[in-house]
Amino acid sequence: MYEVSAVIVAAGESKRFGQNKVFLKVGEKYLVQYSLDVFAAVEEVKEIILVVRREFLELAESFKAIYPKITQVIEGGHERQDSVLHGLSCAKYPYVLIHDGARPNISVALINRVIQGFSSSDAVVPVIPVRDTLVYFEDQFFNKPINRDGLFAVQTPQGYKKSLILEALNKSDKNYTDESTLLFDTLGVRAKGVEGSFANFKITYPEDFELFQRILGGNMDLRVGIGFDSHRLERGRKLILGGVQVQSDFGAVAHSDGDCLVHAIIDALLGGTGQKDIGTQFPDTDPKYSGISSLKLLQEIWDGIRQQYEILNLDTVVKLEKPKIKDNVDEMKENIARILSIPLDRISIKAKTGEKIGPVGECLLIECEAVVLLRRRY
Ligand code: MG
Repeated sequence: MYEVSAVIVAAGESKRFGQNKVFLKVGEKYLVQYSLDVFAAVEEVKEIILVVRREFLELAESFKAIYPKITQVIEGGHERQDSVLHGLSCAKYPYVLIHDGARPNISVALINRVIQGFSSSDAVVPVIPVRDTLVYFEDQFFNKPINRDGLFAVQTPQGYKKSLILEALNKSDKNYTDESTLLFDTLGVRAKGVEGSFANFKITYPEDFELFQRILGGNMDLRVGIGFDSHRLERGRKLILGGVQVQSDFGAVAHSDGDCLVHAIIDALLGGTGQKDIGTQFPDTDPKYSGISSLKLLQEIWDGIRQQYEILNLDTVVKLEKPKIKDNVDEMKENIARILSIPLDRISIKAKTGEKIGPVGECLLIECEAVVLLRRRY
């Protein structure tokens, strides 16, 4: 497996667009977050370096809470190449992906094709054949045709062995809009082309932005998952909920850490994606899971899902007679949001008592419910 650093360049001036587009909001998210979501979902991507203009440094820093893979947020340079160089000089891994933050409709599959290209080349770029007829125009009139045979358009992310692209960038004294051209001109190295995607278009003009908004609105491939869990309570045990140890006289009887809330969330995720339940995935007869933090189990389950789905929202209910958990809820949400890479406002944790009757009301039982709404990625 190749371990790669991803450098997402979002420091352009957006001259043709008229305003900085990568920090425009599309739905609830900033445009650049659509790229971040997809890169964060790729297992081989071990770190993300985000290069932005100075005025967006603070906002970009705040993304670290949502995307733990972001290791550095840095200020871009004058030219695209300076920004790329700044980003690459912080990269820790031997292979890098350089992506244009203005290509939000990137897919996990395309990123994986580029990474797979490393097995045969130290420079890999996604390309698409030119579809339209190409001609030269002069003074608004047809001048002469261009033979489009063998003509391809080059996209991002572009994959490079870090030492190779750094050598080229350091040697180059011209400005390029594309690293593969720079690499060829400077070192004579020919990048390998892999299949790009017409969907991976670059937002250059306002109408591209409108097109992307329409694409998002059109993806209604939604899945809903429901999860439920209960644990017996006993005096003197620890009570862990959402990864937080809650001050309580009673705690859950369990093989793992007994985090009833996280177990319900795991089952909602498994249910929504048509998989078998938590007990099948993590048998309580397996000593490996004895006392394990349920957040680790959540991480494992989410890692298996996130390439195919994104979470639109997660709603939960904790049924517990006492203690009151309202002071712990924020920390629980932070723990869960960090693992699922979603903003806090997409998670809800609500507490209910058993009105002093029934097993919950008599402090014999804790119950949790979770509902999750997922959207399948392209
Ligand atoms: Mg359980």
